[in-house]
Amino acid sequence: MSEDEKRPDEAQILGHLELYRQLGVRWSALPAKAAGTRRSDARGPSEGAGRTVEQAPQRGERIAAPSQPKAAARLQIPPPSMFEGVEESQESLESVRADLGDCRRCKLASLRRNLVFGSGNPSAELLFVGEAPGADEDEQGLPFVGRAGQLLTRIIEAIGMSRDEVYICNILKCRPPGNRNPESDEIAACEPFLLRQVAAIRPKVVCALGTYSAQLLLRTKEPISRLRGQFFEYRGSKLLATFHPAYLLRNPAEKRKTWEDMQKVRDFLKAAKESRP
Ligand code: SF4
Repeated sequence: MSEDEKRPDEAQILGHLELYRQLGVRWSALPAKAAGTRRSDARGPSEGAGRTVEQAPQRGERIAAPSQPKAAARLQIPPPSMFEGVEESQESLESVRADLGDCRRCKLASLRRNLVFGSGNPSAELLFVGEAPGADEDEQGLPFVGRAGQLLTRIIEAIGMSRDEVYICNILKCRPPGNRNPESDEIAACEPFLLRQVAAIRPKVVCALGTYSAQLLLRTKEPISRLRGQFFEYRGSKLLATFHPAYLLRNPAEKRKTWEDMQKVRDFLKAAKESRP
């Protein structure tokens, strides 16, 4: 069956939109096809992308009707309205950390060994955002220090940077038990601190690592396979999503795509540096 034959009817689309409206979602990635554009790359329609920078949604714009893959069904996304205005803050990273303190704002506090705020350059041009700490990170209080973290270090070094040059953090600062997916109340409690970190660091590029980070930051349920490798507008920075290093450990054949994504990040940062007066 062709893509056109699978097109949902109007009632289905309205149903999706109503669901998103009830969730408080104001905008979402719009498939290039629906936006009346053609993809210029050769990956084919089945990997049809979300909206690119040129098509980036404006704040407050109503959403289109993205597909809802089953794998993403458990991700509960809180409305963005509660975070509006955060990016205008001028506070430092230290101030955000101090305010977070010995955080007890959600149920994960009682389960953690260490709160994992983030690490790296507080003025980084490149910010990596994962989903939540794992066992190694919980143990050490540092982000991405396990096997996946070691792979992330190699990815960073492959584009000619070091971990000290970039900043690395997660949406949740405490480990969900058994590495389960973040729950909506946890995201609602913790994401404001991520947004304050973004506002304090002011990175040129935010690199969302993995499905949940990409979907949450972009407020979409598009699969990572459609989101990855493109630049989106995100709170004054460009956002590019790529596969999570833990996924790459399980699926080494996908490393090539991540390398392509990271080359785009490298080239963007290089061009930004060269265009400076
Ligand atoms: S996950 Fe975030 S909100 Fe919840 S206790 Fe940890 S730091 Fe606080």
